[in-house]
Amino acid sequence: MLYFIKNQLYVEKVSLGSLGRRFGTPLFIYSKQQLINNYINFDSAFSSVPHLICYAIKANSNFSILKTLAKQGAGIDITSGGELYRALRSGFSPKKIVYAGIGKTSEEIEYALKSNILMFNVESIEELHLINRLGNRYRRKMPIAFRINPHVDAHTHKYITTGKSGSKFGIPYPEALDVYRFASRLKNIDVAGIHCHIGSQLTSVKPFHLSALRLAKIMGSLSKNGIRLRYVDMGGGLGIKYHNEKTQTPKDLSNAVLSVFKDFSGTFIFEPGRYIVGNTGVLLVKVIYRKKADGKNFLIVDGGMNDLIRPTLYEAYHEIIPVGNHNRKKVKLDVVGPICETGDFLGKGRLLPLAEQGEYLAVMGAGAYSMAMSSQYNSRVRAAEVMVDGSNVRVIREREKYQDLTAKEK
Ligand SMILES: *Cc1c(COP(=O)(O)O)cnc(C)c1O
Repeated sequence: MLYFIKNQLYVEKVSLGSLGRRFGTPLFIYSKQQLINNYINFDSAFSSVPHLICYAIKANSNFSILKTLAKQGAGIDITSGGELYRALRSGFSPKKIVYAGIGKTSEEIEYALKSNILMFNVESIEELHLINRLGNRYRRKMPIAFRINPHVDAHTHKYITTGKSGSKFGIPYPEALDVYRFASRLKNIDVAGIHCHIGSQLTSVKPFHLSALRLAKIMGSLSKNGIRLRYVDMGGGLGIKYHNEKTQTPKDLSNAVLSVFKDFSGTFIFEPGRYIVGNTGVLLVKVIYRKKADGKNFLIVDGGMNDLIRPTLYEAYHEIIPVGNHNRKKVKLDVVGPICETGDFLGKGRLLPLAEQGEYLAVMGAGAYSMAMSSQYNSRVRAAEVMVDGSNVRVIREREKYQDLTAKEK
């Protein structure tokens, strides 16, 4: 949804420069059409089987984004009570909510029980006991899936791999049969499904296939023990193109997974986050100063690691492009923010025009894990967010004010 017209970068029918002048920077800009297209793409890859696409809310939890997805019929994958609150308020049916996370508190579990969500993805025996106990109070036989750690390497950054042996997530797959047998005897537990989520930004579907084989094997043993599951939840993790990665499509994922479960007649669940929102968003920043130090060129911009922490947290690459005339002489430079940290950069060693003061740069692929991970570090107010729909623009989160910085303090 991003393209140049006469040397000006556009999102849908609106130029990024005009958005910068109108709403100020740093500014998150989302394309509504791209968001809807991504969801439809993912959903339609599974049209041959009963399925539910549960958007992983943690990737981007803005109300308007959630409402747009709820309207498309999406389900939602949550990991906290706060996310449950957002999900319910933005119109998701409780019957389409799945809840993962290794540290659900009793308050959070009760909130989810009361809300009648579809299923807990359970990550430990103690959590199972707590759900069983609290279920008694609500007289509910609560549907659960165990999150199984299939011991599969996702080949992604070490901070976002979750399915290897020694990870804090899930139940190690050799213990699966025992925990299922145990759970099936608990009064308030309905053993409904099996779940895994092996990591994020996967650029191959092979690890999904290997995980599916592990889950299918467990299901085979379960069925010999009289335990039949109704849901197979393969988590999220499908990667997107930030730079020169070779990515795979939802259809590739579908082929890799569905081929394993030929005899399964229940419902498939997937929990894509990044794939749905990642390429819908741009972070627009403005050049404050240019600087040369020790032979290096710096563009100092008004967005930093408090707005977009992925470059420094995950060594992530985000493409950066000037919103106007990009056909100028290029130099090697670092794009850095104003924060007092050496880790405060958006891009290093980039070949870019030495943009003028006041010029706008677009940081691409900033729809997922960007605003959602932002902070007020250095007492910087959080950026505004706008959504573009054709030639329409709507503010979907106001820029914070200085008063917001101290509002809760005594
Ligand atoms: C983070 C997460 C997801 C989403 O991962 P993406 O890489 O954004 O698709 C899905 N399921 C669970 C349990 C998660 O923790």
